[in-house]
Amino acid sequence: MIIGVPKEIHAGEKRVATTPEVVEKLKKLGFSVSIESGAGAAANFTDEAYREAGATIVDSAQALWSSSDIIFKVRAPETHPELATDEVELLKEGKTLVSFIWPGQNSELMERLAAKNVTVLAMDSVPRVSRAQKLDALSSMANIAGYRAVVEASHAFGRFFCGQITAAGKVPPAKVFIIGVGVAGLSAIGAASGLGAIVRASDTRPEVKDQVKSMGAEFVEVDYQEEGTGVGGYAKVMSEGYQKAQREMYFRQAMDVDIIITTALIPGKPAPKLITAGMVENMKPGSVIVDLAAEQGGNCELTVPGEAVVRHGVTIIGYTDLPSRLAKQSSQLYATNLWRLSEELCKNKDGVIDVNMEDEVIRGATVIKNGAITWPPPPPKIS
Ligand code: NAD
Repeated sequence: MIIGVPKEIHAGEKRVATTPEVVEKLKKLGFSVSIESGAGAAANFTDEAYREAGATIVDSAQALWSSSDIIFKVRAPETHPELATDEVELLKEGKTLVSFIWPGQNSELMERLAAKNVTVLAMDSVPRVSRAQKLDALSSMANIAGYRAVVEASHAFGRFFCGQITAAGKVPPAKVFIIGVGVAGLSAIGAASGLGAIVRASDTRPEVKDQVKSMGAEFVEVDYQEEGTGVGGYAKVMSEGYQKAQREMYFRQAMDVDIIITTALIPGKPAPKLITAGMVENMKPGSVIVDLAAEQGGNCELTVPGEAVVRHGVTIIGYTDLPSRLAKQSSQLYATNLWRLSEELCKNKDGVIDVNMEDEVIRGATVIKNGAITWPPPPPKIS
């Protein structure tokens, strides 16, 4: 079968769904690989490098989509009027698409795809079980977003992160407060510590305390007894009493620290509003907030999704394209996640995929099978 990788058409998207290194791995599974000319350019992968790895370079999106059996993409299919491209229309009957889809937020797209009588696997729907960790693209992208959040913060901040004693005087280390210690939060802790900042972190799930400490950061507790772990180990919505105590703690931290990085999310809910306008007003001028929850509504009341704004002397960064801002790294990890999925789909290494709905991981990721919407999957069996 031919795996086709088109150039992403979403405005500003720099990632690409495969790399020359992964092309070689896909070929070892028996697939042929086609790449749209220029698909990797923004992530610094040339047509020549793909060709040397054994891929065929195809000149146009139309030719790529029509000649491929399986399409690997980053972003969910889109319509792009300026390019006169509708990616759903390009996907022909019987073909398979693998990309981010977000089926819960994109019901119209799901209906359009199902009407094309295709099969769709959503990388955002891969079950987060141990066996599937190597194809967990959500974690790959969250890791990059957490790292890049620190880079963006240091860029907007007017001082060193590390303390220094120089001939021109003593420089105190920056203080960084990280809210939400999932994959992105842990990555942000690592990056901020690496730059020499004093790092503190907080989360409603108490089990992350040891992870925070093991990375050399301080875990800041909320002075209120409530278990924050909900279904599947994810966060739950906290009680009003807890939220009040949490706001008091955040207020104190906001006045003390230089940088706040927020990553707090609750599956299926809007992002909790944790940093109020009043807290921002009480931060030191020149402080920075990076809100990784911007796309889900933001953890800070003053975040503008997709933009960096200055409010009360504080820079509030709400970029929603952090993985794309590290396009080469993101493409490498995402391409590897897709290769690992390909291994699961092609156990015989014969270049033919089997979308086996008896397999827990494949079942979870498959959101449309031969034109039938199969999302959401049935809840896992409790034995
Ligand atoms: P996430 O992006 O859903 O949320 C980020 C963090 O925000 C979480 O740690 C959450 O507890 C925290 N949070 C939510 N509301 C908050 C609030 N009001 N105040 C402070 N913090 C708040 O998290 P994630 O990165 O997807 O990870 C969530 C869990 O899933 C973790 O336990 C992680 O280890 C686990 N996980 C498992 C796998 C796997 O087994 N394959 C992969 C990835 C993550």
